[in-house]
Amino acid sequence: MPTFDLPIDKTGCVDRCLYGQSKKCTVTKNPNERYPSRKALVLRNWELINSKKFESEITAQIRKKRINDFRWFSSGDFFSLESIDKVIKVCKNLSRIRHWIATSRDDLLKEWLKDNSIPENVNIRLSAPVPNMEIPQFMIDEFSPFGVTFSETTTDPHKANCHASISTEKGINCGDCDLCWKKDHKITKYYLKGVKNEIS
Ligand code: SF4
Repeated sequence: MPTFDLPIDKTGCVDRCLYGQSKKCTVTKNPNERYPSRKALVLRNWELINSKKFESEITAQIRKKRINDFRWFSSGDFFSLESIDKVIKVCKNLSRIRHWIATSRDDLLKEWLKDNSIPENVNIRLSAPVPNMEIPQFMIDEFSPFGVTFSETTTDPHKANCHASISTEKGINCGDCDLCWKKDHKITKYYLKGVKNEIS
């Protein structure tokens, strides 16, 4: 699955998010993230998103892939209002592609939504800030009217609705599942593997 990812230390998500602080962040636990080639790629992306060529370069790179779905931030997050603008511009350039953007930046998103709206082909999925916690109702009430969808985690595999998180494979392999791109799939609930006794 093609993704655009950023370094978690540069975007700051690992420090501000309770998944990062409690060492339950899937990125910090994934050994693939430690490969030099992977580190170089996310660093290149960081430099790119902070450059003026981001919109044209990433639009061209994604367009070349001739895909239907694109995922943003399996690692990293928005880090400024400008970063949201830049990503959304790329999504608008690629209007035939469905974009799923994962973020925990409710603060930035709230600010951005004052002057902007989410394009039809984009699904911004806001994650609950605390592991094993349902997305708070006030966040649902605040963001749903703008078309934002949500994600949360559970330590009970029977409550999860993401089959990939329940599988024994390492990481999340979506296969042909496309629920997270769908705007009518309001909440994705992931199974938090192997942490039941630590946080329940
Ligand atoms: S619900 Fe489907 S699309 Fe979403 S992360 Fe799980 S497997 Fe992937």
